[in-house]
Amino acid sequence: MVIEKDFVEEVAQAVLPSPVALPVVFPEAFDQETKPTCQHHWVIETANGPISWGECQVCHEVKEFQNSISDADIGY
Ligand SMILES: [Zn+2]
Repeated sequence: MVIEKDFVEEVAQAVLPSPVALPVVFPEAFDQETKPTCQHHWVIETANGPISWGECQVCHEVKEFQNSISDADIGY
């Protein structure tokens, strides 16, 4: 099976000569371009003011949430 052997060597040569490090992917660019749609499962931190921070348990995206405090409660 000389043909098979040659074929294997060809493949090996095609793969081996480039042990180059993978390009660095910047997380921010990665998020904008290729992040699949996530049905965010927000877990909101305990309210500490008019804004709370929540983190998605699926994709760990962080987002600020306005607490639903009515104006009547704030204006004291
Ligand atoms: Zn998410």
